Amino acid sequence: MHRRTVLELFAGLAAAGVPSLGAQAPRRVVVAGGGIIGANIACQLVTRGADVTLVERARPGAGATADSFAWINAKKRPLDYFNLSRMGLQAWHQLDREFSGTLPLAWGGSVEWHADDTRGAALRAQIRDFRQWGYGVRAINAAGLRALEPRLVPGPLASAAHWEDEAHIDPVGVTEMLVKRAQTNGARVEYPAEVTGLDLAGGRLRAVRTSKGDLAADVLVAACGTDTPRVAALAGVRVPLRDAPGVLVHVPPGPRLIDRVALAPPGNIKQKPDGRIVTGSDFASGGGDTSREAGERHLQRMAAVLPELGKAAVEKMTQGFRPMPADGFPIVGFAPGRSDVYIAVMHSGVTLGPLVGRLAATEILDRVPLAALAAYRLERFKG
Ligand SMILES: Cc1cc2nc3c(=O)[nH]c(=O)nc-3n(C[C@H](O)[C@H](O)[C@H](O)COP(=O)(O)OP(=O)(O)OC[C@H]3O[C@@H](n4cnc5c(N)ncnc54)[C@H](O)[C@@H]3O)c2cc1C
Repeated sequence: MHRRTVLELFAGLAAAGVPSLGAQAPRRVVVAGGGIIGANIACQLVTRGADVTLVERARPGAGATADSFAWINAKKRPLDYFNLSRMGLQAWHQLDREFSGTLPLAWGGSVEWHADDTRGAALRAQIRDFRQWGYGVRAINAAGLRALEPRLVPGPLASAAHWEDEAHIDPVGVTEMLVKRAQTNGARVEYPAEVTGLDLAGGRLRAVRTSKGDLAADVLVAACGTDTPRVAALAGVRVPLRDAPGVLVHVPPGPRLIDRVALAPPGNIKQKPDGRIVTGSDFASGGGDTSREAGERHLQRMAAVLPELGKAAVEKMTQGFRPMPADGFPIVGFAPGRSDVYIAVMHSGVTLGPLVGRLAATEILDRVPLAALAAYRLERFKG
């Protein structure tokens, strides 16, 4: 089935005439958090005709979004999460079309290789499994890798892959464009402004209290990244997150060296559309050393696979904190027992942002619980 059709089947249920669940459609929505999740949700809500105010404590894209590696991929398990992530990729295609190809986004996939036999065998098994699920991935040899990324020097290959469907973005650039579009389409955007309290008189949301005053609201969307638990707690809602820091080294803009995300034995590399290189040692990285010296050591290691990095400078080091739910999977949907507080917090929020924006707008405005999100409700943590 055409990728657009699949996505619209999920995202367009209400537009296709599926009845709402009876609750009166909310009009006034306050979205707390101007990261890639809040920006996508605000954009979709306002496009659907809602009265939207986006409240951001610092500035758009200031949180985890700024510190993200920002690789769009569906290399996820189990199957349900893979399917959600693959719809995430489709939603990026749709968004890219809606912005007429102007988003700072690079398609072309990722390349991955391993030198040691055990990891090489694991990669071959992954290629087989993900191909069975219909993901675009193929085994490549050294010549194939060279044809895709001529400047990479992989060394001996136990196995290599081209994950064809993937992309990477400049996450702050995209978030700023989404916020601007939301504003152009009628959303109010307040920053710096912080959500500090809720008026829940009579048991339902009446207003969201912010550092710039109260905003009358029917629904609050809590999309505050690692601060989502604090904002959800204002309504007595517990959101369990765990710590997941990650360090990245940023190199100043330079000539184009690579087009795709490269998952190499010493670490991961990508070059943003603006020419900056971003590299880190491990996606599962713990807290780390953010000193310039640590960055320089990392660049020397990476120079083994991209020699130009041996002469590159460290522009900055970042340590970001992934908004990681306790079990690693997204939390999206109305808080248990409430129809006025909607939670949207997740890792891989870059991959999932445009999809979650569409699905959340449908659930909030049409009161249609979507099957695609059934496994990702906050209720699963009960007990
Ligand atoms: C090192 C690292 C690598 C990553 N790599 C990838 C990757 O390759 N692919 C991928 O898909 N994902 C990746 N992620 C995860 C991804 O970046 C996040 O899931 C995503 O950015 C989360 O976006 P968000 O909008 O939910 O949160 P944030 O970007 O954190 O935005 C939340 C916003 O809420 C604001 N806020 C907080 N409290 C309040 C309040 N009370 N009132 C108003 N505003 C408030 C904050 O200022 C912030 O701007 C990575 C993350 C890290 C840290």
